[in-house]
Amino acid sequence: MAERVSCSMIIDIHTHIYTEETYQTYLSKTKGRELKVLVMAWHEQNLEDLLSFISTKNNLFLVGTVNIESNINEQLEKLEKLFREKKIFGIKLYPGYQYFYPSDEKVYPTADLCQKYNKPLIFHSGTTYSVDKKALFKYAHPIYIDELAVKFPKCKIIISHFGFPYQLETATVIYKNENVFTEISGTIERLSSKEDARDILNQYIKDLSRVFSYYPEVKKKVMFGTDYSGEDTSLCEVAPYIKLVERVFRKDEQKNVFYSLAENLFFKE
Ligand SMILES: [Zn+2]
Repeated sequence: MAERVSCSMIIDIHTHIYTEETYQTYLSKTKGRELKVLVMAWHEQNLEDLLSFISTKNNLFLVGTVNIESNINEQLEKLEKLFREKKIFGIKLYPGYQYFYPSDEKVYPTADLCQKYNKPLIFHSGTTYSVDKKALFKYAHPIYIDELAVKFPKCKIIISHFGFPYQLETATVIYKNENVFTEISGTIERLSSKEDARDILNQYIKDLSRVFSYYPEVKKKVMFGTDYSGEDTSLCEVAPYIKLVERVFRKDEQKNVFYSLAENLFFKE
């Protein structure tokens, strides 16, 4: 049973809802809440297919992506058009999977574009999931966001997954740079037993509480996210993330995490 949440409005800033079936199972897990859901495009995916699926749902919002290994300018031209048409609400990059640092010059034109449209630039950060095990952690370490954040102080940057397991490093980068934010998604996967599920939630609560005792200000720069990817994947949890927010953040802080900050970063004109 999902627990009642104090804030009935939720913006989930990190999902991979690509099909009707995934959309329906997600809805069944978030019943009774007013939702806005951001869907992360993947660089190997057909963007047109994704755009046409998203256009059939009024609460799904797409975040585009750039395949850093192919023609960047050509892709940015398309993305700029989509920003203008309000069909995308940010751009996500995948450094660990595509072997580049967030501080690499190759990223600059994308940061420029996000800055121009005042929309977030999101980095997959921290641990990587790849079937062929070829993704490299060094590129996904949150420390490399720092340099880009200093270079583009007007570009809003989001470190995904709280940089897990580098949460303290993530908070250090966020604390130092006004334009850097994070979200809590992806760390809690489906586990086989209730005990394991309880243990990981409790550990995550402890880890974030530790981070916030060093950096209380960072609490204001955290958003809700699940990384929901469908029931046929291990990333299919919603309720534990809601519980996490309720346990780590005070009541008067929760609205910002569940809703207000994301509303500001993604949807404010
Ligand atoms: Zn994801």
